[in-house]
Formats: sequence, C-alpha cells, structure tokens
Amino acid sequence: MSKSKKDILQGFSPSMDYRSMLLFIGVGLIIIGLTLWNWHYDLRPRLVNEAESNARILAASHARAIESQFQNISGSTDISVIHNSINEMLLINDPSSGETLYRGIALEVDYDVFPANYDMVNIDVGDTNCSACINSENPIYNYKTGELAAILKIYANPVFYQHLVDDIVDDLALMLGGVIIVLVLAWLTSNRLLYNLREREKSLLIEVAERRSVEDRLQQIATYDQLTNLPNRYLLQADFTRKLEETARNRKMLATLFFDIDHFKQINDMHGHEAGDALLREAAGRVSDVTRNYDLLARFGGDEFVMIMSNVENRADVIYVAEKIISSFNKVFSLHDAEVTVTTSIGISVFPEDGDDPSELLKNADLAMYRAKADGRNGYQFFNAEMNLELQYSQWVETNLREALNNNGLELHYQPQVNLDNGKVESCEALIRWPQGSGDNVNPADFIRIAERSALINDISHWVLQETCRQIHEWTDAGYQTVRVDINLSGKDFVDKGVLYNFLQILRRQNLQPHQIGVEITENILLESTEQVIKALTLLHNAGVHISIDDFGTGFSSLNYIKQLPLSGIKIDQSFVHEAPSNKDDLVIIQAITLVGHGFGLDIVAEGVETEWHESLCKGVGCNTMQGVYVSEPLSAKAFASKFLKRSKT
Ligand code: C2E
Ligand code: MG
Ligand code: MG
Repeated sequence: MSKSKKDILQGFSPSMDYRSMLLFIGVGLIIIGLTLWNWHYDLRPRLVNEAESNARILAASHARAIESQFQNISGSTDISVIHNSINEMLLINDPSSGETLYRGIALEVDYDVFPANYDMVNIDVGDTNCSACINSENPIYNYKTGELAAILKIYANPVFYQHLVDDIVDDLALMLGGVIIVLVLAWLTSNRLLYNLREREKSLLIEVAERRSVEDRLQQIATYDQLTNLPNRYLLQADFTRKLEETARNRKMLATLFFDIDHFKQINDMHGHEAGDALLREAAGRVSDVTRNYDLLARFGGDEFVMIMSNVENRADVIYVAEKIISSFNKVFSLHDAEVTVTTSIGISVFPEDGDDPSELLKNADLAMYRAKADGRNGYQFFNAEMNLELQYSQWVETNLREALNNNGLELHYQPQVNLDNGKVESCEALIRWPQGSGDNVNPADFIRIAERSALINDISHWVLQETCRQIHEWTDAGYQTVRVDINLSGKDFVDKGVLYNFLQILRRQNLQPHQIGVEITENILLESTEQVIKALTLLHNAGVHISIDDFGTGFSSLNYIKQLPLSGIKIDQSFVHEAPSNKDDLVIIQAITLVGHGFGLDIVAEGVETEWHESLCKGVGCNTMQGVYVSEPLSAKAFASKFLKRSKT
C-alpha cells in the first residue's frame, strides 16, 4: 500500500539529521578509541622494538665511522686535532631530521692505549663521574661481543625513544585530525546529499500529490454532476452494469426509478435559472436523504434523476421507496426569493421482467414515467407490456409519418365554427388527417403527440400552414368566399425555427392577410416558455391574427394566463360540453369560463357540440361560437367548400 503524504513527509523531520550526526560522531570516536587502544597495546611495543633496532644499526654505523676516524687520527700528536675529531665523532644527529641529539666532549684521552689499542679510548662525555666514559671497561663498540658503548646506547634510551614516539604521536594526531576532518566533511557532504535527495523526493511527492489531486478533480468532474454532487449518467452507466450483474448472481430484483420534476420548465421560466438550479440541488438533497446507502442515485440530465435499487426482494420495497421520494417533495421549496411547491412523477422498470440491460431498463422506466405524468403526475407507474406496444407504435409513427409528410400522404380536413347568434359559419378549424391504405385514419391526437417529441412537429406545422394557404387560394380561385381557417400549433412551434417566427412572412409571401388564418394553441404551451410565447403571440395578435386557447379547462388551466396573453378567443374543451347536460359542475365551469372570457372581451367557442341540447345549453350560457358534429364533422376541402362556403358574387 502506498504511504500517505503525511507519513512520507514525517521521515523528513529534523530529528533524523541529529540522529545521523550523533551516529557519525559516535562511529568516529569508536574508531579513534580503537586506534589509540591498538597503538598502546600493539603499536607502542612495536615502535620501541623498531627504535631499538634502528638505534643498533645507527650505533653500528657510527661505531664504524668512529673507528675509521680513530684510524685517521692515530698518527696525529696534535691534541686539538684529536680532540675535535673525537668531538665530531661524538656528535650524534637524528638521521631523519638532522637535529643534534647528543654532543659529547672528550676531556681525557688515554694516550697509552691510543692509538695502539683504540678500542679502549677513555672519553669523558661531560659527565664528571664518567659513568658514560669510554675506556677499556667501557669500549665504544666491542667487535667481539657486538656490545654498544654506553654513549651510543642513547639511540635506544628513553629520551631518544620518547622523541621518536613524540614524532609518531604527532603524525598520528595529525592523521587522526585528518581522519576526523574527512569524517566530518564526509558527514556534511553525505548529509547535504541526503538532504538534497530528500528535498527532491519531497518535491516529487508534493508534485505527485498535486497531480493526483488534479486527476481526482478531473475524475470527479467527469463522473459527478457539479450542481447536485450526484453521480452523472456516465458513472450511472458504469455502476448500473455492475449492480445488474451482482443482482443476477444473487437471483434478486433490480428496480430502475426514473423521475423528473413536474413542470420544471415553468419554474425555470418564472423564477430564473438560478432558482431552477437551487430547486434541483434541494430536490437532489431530499431524495438522497430517503435513499438507502447501497442504492444509486444519479442525475441523468436536466431535471431527470435515476435511482437504481439493487438486490430487491419484492415490488413492495420499491413502492415504499417511490412513495418516500414523492412525499419528499411535499414540503415547500424555498428558492432564492421565491417559495414553490413542486411534485415528481416516477416511472419504474424492474429487472429481469422489463429488460436485462441498462439501456432497456432506463428506456422502459422513462416510458413508465410518461405514463405517470399522463395519469396526473405526482405519482409512480410501473412499466408494463402495454407501454411497450405504445413504444412500438411510436417507433412506427416516427418512421412512417415523415415518409407520409414527404410524399403527400397527409391531408387537411375542415370543420365549421358557427356563430350561435346568427348561425353563420364564420370560421373553420383545419384538422390533419393521415389516411391509410385500409381507408382508416391514424388518430391525429396520437401521432401529433408522438411527432411533438421530435422536430418532426415543426415540419408538420409548416406543412399545415402552407397547405392552408394553398387551400384558401384554391377556394378563392374556385369562386368561394373563404372564411378564417384556424390551424393547430404546438409548443415546439415557438422555438427557434418554429413556424410562429415566420408566420407573418409566410402569409405575406402567400399573398394572404393575417386575419385569414387563426392560430389555436393549448394551455400547456404556456408551460413551455412563457416569455417567448407571449412575445411571439403579441407580434401575431398585433398584426391581426386570431389567437385562441384550445381545449381550455383540461390542462394547466389558469385564468391568470388569459389576462397575460394576447388572445382573441377561448375554446372550451369538449369534455365539459359533453357532460354539461348531466353534470352541474361542468355547466358551472362553462358558465365561469364564459363569464371571465367575456370580461376580457374574448370570443367563447364551445367544442364538441353534438346535439341540439348542447347547442342550446352553450347558447344559454352565452358562448359565441359552436363547433361539433351537430353542425358537421370535419370535411375534406371540397366537401367543406360545397357545403359551407358561399359562392362569391361575380
Ligand atoms: P382539437 O384541436 O381540439 O380538435 C378538435 C377535435 O375534436 C378533432 O379531433 C375533431 O375531429 C374532434 N371533434 C369535433 N367535433 C366533435 C364532436 O362533436 N364530438 C367529438 N367527440 N369530437 C369532435 P381530431 O381531428 O381527431 O384531432 C384531435 C386533436 O389532434 C386536435 O384536437 C388537435 O389537438 C390535434 N390536431 C389535429 N390536427 C392538428 C394539426 O394540424 N396540428 C396540430 N398540432 N395538432 C392537430
Ligand atoms: Mg383545435
Ligand atoms: Mg379542441
């Protein structure tokens, strides 16, 4: 295992240096001690022996020199010559340094024996009692015995010895001093080297630690969502597979919970992106709090979250968690300067029943979430096979609808809108038809909903507008007095390249007036992008385009929007009209909408008028216009014109 940075840096504490210094000094002292010991018990006697043998050699050579000197002076009678010669002979120098070690003074010469028997010369060497005299008892050198004369023994005497020893001790002290200096220098150098090495190692470690922390940060950014700190979809993918394998091994269940915040876009638009971010952060925190440690919660993107519950025993455990997530949204969310209440809708897919790989389980959970939303939001929905059929149907629609669009496979039918006061057809609604070879039509509500999931809806809306323009011209050319044709647009027509942004331009190019084509939008469009929607609608409204809210009362109904939007009319959803005769509440709703709508000067259209009763009821509450099979079903262009359009007077 690698050491931690702290552990490693601890090795660089100063105490380490003191220890090594003490160690060095200790070793040095031991070496010095051993040397002295060795010198005392081993070197010293050797030195003594050495000195004695040197002295012996010197003495012998000196004796020979003296002998030859004696021979040289043997014939001399001059006492001073003899004296000087003997003095010279007795001058003993250190052979190595040349220093005078002993100076003898010959005071007395036994001329009787000299020079005939010169080995018995009596020389007084300054000592009056002549203890060191050289005479017949005390010769300089006895060639017979090899004995040295007393004077010459000085080579081996303690003084001389001491002198030699002093020299050696001086040398030794010098040597030891040198050794200590070398040791200290070696210690300093090695310590410096060691210090440099450690410094280098330390900086390398810091560099490595810093690089590792940068790498960790990059890894964090790549795998975690920076807003909520939850794992992102990439980490989710990786962990998902692992959890799936583990669950399969344990023969348990795995649940994928896919959820988002209902009407999140509206919060973003109304309160700003910062508030939206704060909401996401808070929601992530709340859901994390109800998540078990071994469940994986990730931000999938936007306001979408995914929770993976592995090793689950049964669906009841999943329901328990789903309900906890839903109720975690119950409390008001305090954003920057606003308090909002939001809900969540959860789609759930289960392994192994609903799929055995992450992408399939995610797709099915997502599908189930849309069902949960369709069922009224603020709830959960398990995936089921029916949803799969829906998915297959969606895929079929997506592929074939584009083909139909490109190959004239779509048509528009027209349904009259009748003024309840005078019974005149003053406008009509264009409704798309996708006929099949069998003679049936694909349900527009279904395929439009699917087309709205992609950019296909924009192409459809463009086509509807162009086709309506063409049809108006065709009717005019055929001699009919045309009425206003209302087309249905979708939320996506408000985005960048949506038809609403070049609506007026298209009308101009098609040589039509803004009042000839009206626009129907559903309330839910308002959730998409309020500010953008209002801007675009105001432009059209000011130009004279009739704008009405379709299916009013079914979606995100808010009378507040009626006040804010540049509207010309409201179309009350047909469900209220159908029920109104039998359901007093629905009648009250129609009355209320009409009252408020009129208050804002709007034209009130009753949709789905199927009977005379419906007609009189709608008329009774004050609706201005009716639309429904009671008057006519949507008809082909030709049939509509012949039945409801008047001929122009020629
Ligand atoms: P919508 O805009 O509310 O259109 C009215 C729907 O009610 C039409 O259904 C029409 O055929 C039907 N209807 C009319 N009178 C009656 C009646 O008396 N009783 C009953 N039960 N229904 C009646 P359709 O044509 O199936 O269209 C369904 C929905 O599809 C439309 O609802 C609209 O939301 C959408 N849609 C249709 N055409 C288009 C289009 O060109 N573009 C877009 N974006 N959406 C379209
Ligand atoms: Mg409509
Ligand atoms: Mg409608």
